[in-house]
Amino acid sequence: MVYYAPRHLEDAVDFLSNEPAIVLAGGTDVFPSLGERSLAGHVLDLSRLLELRAIDRADGMVRIGAAAPWSDIVATPLPAAFDALKCAARQIGGIQIQNAGTIGGNICNASPAADGVPPLLVLDARVELVSARGVRRVALSDFILGVRKTDRASDEIVSAIVIPEPPEDAKSAFLKLGSRSHLVISIVMVAAFLRRDSAGRIAEGRVAVGACAPTARRMRELERDLPGKDATCVEVTAAHLGALAPIDDVRASAEYRMKSAATLCQRAIAEAGCRNG
Ligand SMILES: Cc1cc2nc3c(=O)[nH]c(=O)nc-3n(C[C@H](O)[C@H](O)[C@H](O)COP(=O)(O)OP(=O)(O)OC[C@H]3O[C@@H](n4cnc5c(N)ncnc54)[C@H](O)[C@@H]3O)c2cc1C
Repeated sequence: MVYYAPRHLEDAVDFLSNEPAIVLAGGTDVFPSLGERSLAGHVLDLSRLLELRAIDRADGMVRIGAAAPWSDIVATPLPAAFDALKCAARQIGGIQIQNAGTIGGNICNASPAADGVPPLLVLDARVELVSARGVRRVALSDFILGVRKTDRASDEIVSAIVIPEPPEDAKSAFLKLGSRSHLVISIVMVAAFLRRDSAGRIAEGRVAVGACAPTARRMRELERDLPGKDATCVEVTAAHLGALAPIDDVRASAEYRMKSAATLCQRAIAEAGCRNG
C-alpha cells in the first residue's frame, strides 16, 4: 500500500494517472463504509491540497474547491442564493463532520441522501474534473448517475464545483426532514431558489428534491408552474413530482416520502419567497 498526501494538485494528478488509488478527502464517508476492514490498495489523500480548499468569485463564477469543508462554506460570505447550501452545510452531521467532510466528497459519494446536492442543483452547479488528460466540466445533474455512481473516471480528481454568479435578487431555502433534527440521514430534503418580480410574484423558481429517487432531481414540472404565483400559496401536487420514485426503507415508506416531499416543496418555496421580502 502507498499512502500519498501531496501539497500540489499536479502531483496528485500525476499519482492518479499512474496508480489506481482510493481518493480520500475528509474520509467521513470512506471510513464508515469500510466497517471492520482497513484501507487497502493505494490511497491519495487530498487534505493537504490547499488550492483545492479555496472558495473564490471571479469572471461571473463562484468556484468552490472540491476539498472545501462544510464549515468553510458556512463561514464564507456568498450571495443570498447560497443560503440553501449554507443551511444544508450546517445540518451535515455535527460540527466535527462539518470541519472534516467536504463538498467534493459529498457529491462523489453519490448517496441519494447527500444533503449538498439539492442546493447545488438549484444553483445550476457544474463539476470540474482534472486528470493528466486535461480539465473538463460537467453539469452536476449529469455527473451523479445513480446510487454511488458518478461520471468520474478513475484517474480524475474533482477539483471544484463551479456555479454561475446568481442574480442579486435570488434567494434560496433548504429544508431537511429526518427522524430527529440533527445528526440524521435525510428522509426527504428540498432546496428552493426564487426570484420575485416587481409585483412580488414569482419570476423564476427552481426546486430540487433529494432522497426520493436514486439521485436528487430538479422538479421541472413544478418549476414551469411557478412564474406568476404567490410564493406563500403554491400548491404542490403529485403531478409536479413525477420525477420522483421514492422507496420504502427503514427510515420511511415511499408514500410518506412522497407526501413529505410535496409539503417540504411548498414550505421551501414559501421560505425562499419570504426571504425575498
Ligand atoms: C456521523 C456522520 C454524519 C453524517 N451526516 C451527514 C448528513 O447529515 N448529510 C450528508 O449529506 N452527509 C452526511 N455524512 C456523510 C459525509 O460526512 C458527507 O458526505 C461529506 O461531505 C463527505 O465528504 P468527505 O470529504 O469526508 O468525503 P470522503 O469520505 O473523503 O470521500 C467520499 C467519496 O468521494 C470520493 N472523493 C472525495 N473527494 C474527491 C475528489 N475531490 N475527487 C474525486 N473523488 C473524491 C472518495 O474517493 C469517496 O468515494 C455524515 C457522515 C458521518 C460519519
